[in-house]
Amino acid sequence: MKIAHTIEELDTILDPYRKEEVAIGFVPTMGALHKGHISLIEKAKTENAVTVCSIFVNPTQFNDPKDLQRYPRPVEEDKRILEEAGCDVLFMPSVEAMYPGGNFTTLEENFGVLDKVMEGASRPGHFAGMITIVNLLFMAVKPVNAYFGQKDYQQLAIIRRFIEKHVIPINIVGCPIVRDADGLAMSSRNSLLTAEERKHAQLIPQTMFKVKEMWEKKTVAEIKKWVEGEFAKDGLLRLDYFEISDTKTLEPVTTAHGECVACIAVFDGNIRLIDNVLLTNK
Ligand code: AMP
Repeated sequence: MKIAHTIEELDTILDPYRKEEVAIGFVPTMGALHKGHISLIEKAKTENAVTVCSIFVNPTQFNDPKDLQRYPRPVEEDKRILEEAGCDVLFMPSVEAMYPGGNFTTLEENFGVLDKVMEGASRPGHFAGMITIVNLLFMAVKPVNAYFGQKDYQQLAIIRRFIEKHVIPINIVGCPIVRDADGLAMSSRNSLLTAEERKHAQLIPQTMFKVKEMWEKKTVAEIKKWVEGEFAKDGLLRLDYFEISDTKTLEPVTTAHGECVACIAVFDGNIRLIDNVLLTNK
């Protein structure tokens, strides 16, 4: 695996592929890699001549400085995991390489409702920082295909809208959520949970799977009330939001219609975890 720390180094590695006009696949990550990330690398490898993974803990998308500070950064372990997965190129820029001179100005984009609800409401500035770095990374890598997990459902919807709006010729590929054996969606932040917090976290997927079952029989209001009750019973977990939304617009729905997605964010001690499940037609 080749490693680039600057855009110039990345160009030196990727220019030969660009000249040949072969497909470059791109998987942006913040590192602390797990099987969810690897599923994206594996998918990229089947669809591209060369697969690039980036590891960059993007300061502009952290609304909570403590979250940024404690974000896990196991660099050597990540390199080993990527080698083993057969990743071709690792792009691991410094903050200075991506934001020269410490200019942290973020893009001002109008995404309508998409970036205002759920994560947008709970984490002010998060999506502006996210779309800024995704755009910078897209310009650096110039991929044909870029891979994102449905774990971050709202992020994926915003990236799709951005690409569409600016007519950027990159194919966005959404990939299913990879879960641990007990159902918890894999996340780099899971490694920060204590054993007790990790146990309590199981309530998140358990609740979400039950929501999927209830969708056939219960109203949106009934489901919301039930979810709130489940988390109120747990002494450790604190529900940030639970929302049932239209899959495309992310507008919260009050009655079931078409394709919907249930999204949740929960504080487990100090660690904030998110999950979602798709709800099919009633
Ligand atoms: P992150 O490193 O958390 O920024 O995630 C990098 C990419 O991996 C994003 O596209 C995430 O949606 C995706 N991802 C993270 N966790 C999972 C998971 N459990 N299953 C599938 N994709 C994931």
